[in-house]
Amino acid sequence: ATQPGVRPREAATHCPYCALQCGMVLRDSAVGVEVAPRDFPTNRGGLCQKGWTAAELLDHPERLTTPLLRDRPGGELRPAGWDEALDRVAAGLRAVADRHGPDAVAVFGGGGLTNEKAYALGRFARVTLGTRHVDYNGRWCMSSAAAAGNRAFGVDRGLPFPLADLGRADTLLLVGANPAETMPPLMRHVTDLRERGGRLIVVDPRATATARQADLHLQPLPGTDLAVANALLHIALTEGHVDRAYVAARTTGFDEVRRTVAGYWPAAVERLSGVPVADLEATARALAGAERAIILTARGAEQHAKGVDTVTAFVNLALALGLPGRPGSGYGCLTGQGNGQGGREHGQKADQLPGYRRIDDPAAREHVAGVWGVDPATLPGPGVPAYQLLDSLGTDAGARALLVFGSNPVVSAPRAARIESRLRDLDLLVVADFLRSETAELADVVLPVAQWAEEDGTMTNLEGRVLRRRALRQPPAGVRTDLEVLSALAGRLTGAPLPTDPREVFEELRRASAGGPADYAGITWDRIDADTGVFWPCPDPDGPDRPRLFADRFPTPDGRARFHPVTHRPAAEPVCADYPLHFTTGRVLAHYQSGAQTRRVAALRRAAPEGFVELHPDLAARLGVTEGTPVRVVSRRGELRAPARLSPTIRPDTVFAPFHWPGAARANSVTNDAVDPVSGMPEFKVCAVRVEPA
Ligand code: SF4
Repeated sequence: ATQPGVRPREAATHCPYCALQCGMVLRDSAVGVEVAPRDFPTNRGGLCQKGWTAAELLDHPERLTTPLLRDRPGGELRPAGWDEALDRVAAGLRAVADRHGPDAVAVFGGGGLTNEKAYALGRFARVTLGTRHVDYNGRWCMSSAAAAGNRAFGVDRGLPFPLADLGRADTLLLVGANPAETMPPLMRHVTDLRERGGRLIVVDPRATATARQADLHLQPLPGTDLAVANALLHIALTEGHVDRAYVAARTTGFDEVRRTVAGYWPAAVERLSGVPVADLEATARALAGAERAIILTARGAEQHAKGVDTVTAFVNLALALGLPGRPGSGYGCLTGQGNGQGGREHGQKADQLPGYRRIDDPAAREHVAGVWGVDPATLPGPGVPAYQLLDSLGTDAGARALLVFGSNPVVSAPRAARIESRLRDLDLLVVADFLRSETAELADVVLPVAQWAEEDGTMTNLEGRVLRRRALRQPPAGVRTDLEVLSALAGRLTGAPLPTDPREVFEELRRASAGGPADYAGITWDRIDADTGVFWPCPDPDGPDRPRLFADRFPTPDGRARFHPVTHRPAAEPVCADYPLHFTTGRVLAHYQSGAQTRRVAALRRAAPEGFVELHPDLAARLGVTEGTPVRVVSRRGELRAPARLSPTIRPDTVFAPFHWPGAARANSVTNDAVDPVSGMPEFKVCAVRVEPA
C-alpha cells in the first residue's frame, strides 16, 4: 500500500531534520537523489552538512523494507509479512488492554512527525485505543519554554515573529543556544545584524561556535541562568531602563517581580554564576539601549528541573524592557526538532488536544469529540509527561504495551539505562521506524515506514510557519507510511480504519484546531503552496495569517502579558566530594538528535565518528588526562566512556559530552532524571559527576 498520486522527478521540499526546515529541492537522477538548497526565508539558500547529505538514507543498505518480529523474549528479530506483523500487534494490544485496561497501552511520538501524523497519533491513542497514555519526545526539547510562554503570553509560538527580524535587531541575546552548530543557516540573519552594527551576546557555559562569534560571551556555571536573568533585570531597574509605560499598559504582576529581583545584586550573582558584574551590566545596557532587541532561549536554558522558571526570568526581562510586540524586538524560543512546534499543537502531548487546546477544558473536549464523532465523556483525561510515562512502563502503575513512532528513547531519554530496562520489561514493544534504531533493537515488532521524501504532509517550523513537505517518489516495496500503519491497526482493533491520505487528515486537523490557540482553520495546502508557508493563528481561509504576534494585545483574558516572580534554586544534584564536577550535554554539527539517522550517513560519520568528553586543559592536567585519553564520566546513575577532547573553551569545573551516540559513549547514561514540576522537562543540562582515566 502506498500513497496515490503522480510520481514527480523533482520536489521542492524541506530538510528532514531541524526546526529551521531549510528549503531544498530533491531531484531523482541516475546516481540517486540529489539535494540542492532552495531560497527560503529561513535558510536563504543555505544548508548545513546534515541537509546536504539527507537523501543518502533513502537508498541506504540498512533501510528496513519488511516488518520484523521477535517470537520469544531474547530471540532474534526475523522478517515477516505485514499481515502477520499487524495481526501480532493488534492481538498484543488487545490482550494487554483486556487484562489491564486501556491505559495499559501507551503511545510515544516524536517532534519530527508531520502535523498530520502527530494529529493522527493523538486521535489513534485517545479514540482507537482509549488510553490517556500518550506523549512524545518533544517533552524533552521545548516544553519548558512552551509552559513559560503560555503562562506569560497566553500562547506558545516558538518565535512570535519571523526569523528575519533577527537581522533587524540592534542587540540579540542568545541564552543556551548554539545555532552556529545546530542550525548554521540561521547565522545568516545574525550576520545581517552584525553588518548593521548590531551586537550579539551569548550566554553559555561553553565558548561554542556561536559564542566565539559574539561581542560578549557570558559563561555562567551550568544551572545559574535564572539568577543571571534576574540580575539583568535588577540592573535595568536600578539604572532606570524599565519601560514603565509599556509595563503599565500591557502587563500585570510587575511589582512582585520587582521586589523579587531587588535581591539579585550583581556582585552576589557574580559569586554564584561566575559572570563578572561588568559583563552583567554591559548586557543589561546593551539590551536597554537598543532601539530593537531580541532575547532567545534554547535547550541550555530550558533543559533544567527549573527550566520553566529560567525561561520565565528571561521573559520577565523582555517584558520589563517593553520588547514583545515591538517590530524587530521580543522574546522567542529556538525550537529544535523538525516539527517541534507543530508536533506540540495537534494532540500527541499528554495534556493537549488538537489546536493546542487543554485536554481538561470541557469546551475543548466537546469541540474535538464532535470532530471525531465520539462522546466527549469517552475521551480520556490528561496523561503523564514523557519521562514519567517511560519510567513507569512495566510497573503496576504504568503501561505494559508501548507503540513508538519517530523516536529513539534508548539513546535520547535521561537516565537511559533505566529506561532501557523498562522497555525490556514490557509485554509488547512496537517500533515504527525506517532503520533499526537502538529502540527498534529491543522491539517485539518493528514496522518499516516511509521517509520524508516519500510522503506528503505539513510541518510547522520554529517561526510558527506551516510548510509543505512534498514527496519526490513512492516508498519502496514493503514499506508503509505511518498513517497507513495507524489505519491498519485501527481497522483491526475497532473495524474503523483511519484516513491514510495526508491531505484528508490535514482537512480534519483544520476542523479540530478551529477556535483553538493554534488555529489552522484558514490554512490549506493550496494556500501554503501559493506562498512561503502560512503562519498560525489563521482562522479564516480568506483572512490574513499572523507572522507577528502581540502588537496590540496578548491572547490572555485581559489582553495583558503576565509577569511571574521566579527565584534561583540549585541544580537538582549539587556537586560534592565524590562527584565534584558539573556535567552538561549538547550537540555537534554533524549529528541530529539520537544520531540514529546521521550516524549512518558516511560523510557525517567521517566528520564526527565517535562520542567524546570535552574538558578544560587545567582539569585534564589535574586528572592526568591528555588529548584522546579514554576517560570515564561517572554519575550516581551510570557512566559513559569516550576519548577526552581538551578545550580551553569550557569552564574548568564543567565537562561536556554530545548525546548522539549509544553504547559506552551514551551521554544519557549519566544525565539526571529530575524533572521540572510544571513542564516535565528532565535536567539534561547539569548533574554531578567525577571523571577518571578509563
Ligand atoms: Fe537546515 Fe537544520 Fe536541515 Fe541543517 S539540519 S539543513 S540547519 S533544517
